[in-house]
Amino acid sequence: MTGHTRTGCRLSHELRADLRARATGTRERCGLLFGRCADRHFVIVAVLELENRADADDRFELDPAEIVVRSADHRARGLVCLGAWHTHPGGSAVLSERDHSGASEGWLSVVVGARNDLRAYAHGPAGTARELDLQQ
Ligand SMILES: [Zn+2]
Repeated sequence: MTGHTRTGCRLSHELRADLRARATGTRERCGLLFGRCADRHFVIVAVLELENRADADDRFELDPAEIVVRSADHRARGLVCLGAWHTHPGGSAVLSERDHSGASEGWLSVVVGARNDLRAYAHGPAGTARELDLQQ
């Protein structure tokens, strides 16, 4: 991961529709993103929903043990865990303060907001993040 500045994220029309359909209700939903790292891009191949373990509706929390198990499953198919997606039902697809501080460097975040707002971010050092160019 080091030495690469990824500027784009490939996400198919089907997977976008799949994610957008989950931005419903009042509680955030969340899961993992699997795929590959191409030269300058994250390439998302599979989306998986996991239980949101947070104790409030406006945040999300994944079970670290489940990330390990699911990542091993996908590794057998040649896919790596690129990061996580979560919804902001009723809000925009902009990272919150908590989203910034909760992600580690190199991690990919896809945020699904209301009204089909969907954005991807690459997390950098010390809570920084950069929005990525979304491509098919
Ligand atoms: Zn968020």
